[in-house]
Amino acid sequence: MYKHLFRPVPSRRLGMSLGIDLIPKKVCSLNCVYCEVGKTILRTPDRMEYVKYHQVIAELKQFMSAKPKIDYITFSGSGEPTLNNKIGDVLKFVKENYPHIKTAVLTNGTLFYNQKLRTELLQADIILPSIDAASQSVFEKIDCPNSNLKFLLYLKCKFKTSQPLF
Ligand code: SF4
Repeated sequence: MYKHLFRPVPSRRLGMSLGIDLIPKKVCSLNCVYCEVGKTILRTPDRMEYVKYHQVIAELKQFMSAKPKIDYITFSGSGEPTLNNKIGDVLKFVKENYPHIKTAVLTNGTLFYNQKLRTELLQADIILPSIDAASQSVFEKIDCPNSNLKFLLYLKCKFKTSQPLF
């Protein structure tokens, strides 16, 4: 029984995809009205080791020891995966130990203003950010963000991540 892995599922975009969940239910920077996980319990932009790195790696090693046929390891799950400040270390571990498997990060993109996170995410093969709004008012209405998150910064980070932000 795994706590931080989801059994592989066929994905139209990614092929056979193993899910990794680095966040306890339900920690997110947003509280989207349509969220299928449920209401956000901790709405925060603060990154920390919400799920311990060594626990995730132990499960991954055990799962991969059976040599499963998977195409992607996908970071998603019970909240916003980029809130876990060890996501870069987990991506690095996957790259070093399973170089034949690609990695994908499903994210709301609200923390892309963080330079350290952006550097960490460069290790992923695909980043799939979502966006629901084109204005602060709709952002607040649909995504109910943590009060420290401002829409213009969010938008700027999503579309100009190759430019200096500040
Ligand atoms: S960003 Fe994703 S996990 Fe967070 S509240 Fe919205 S739909 Fe749910």
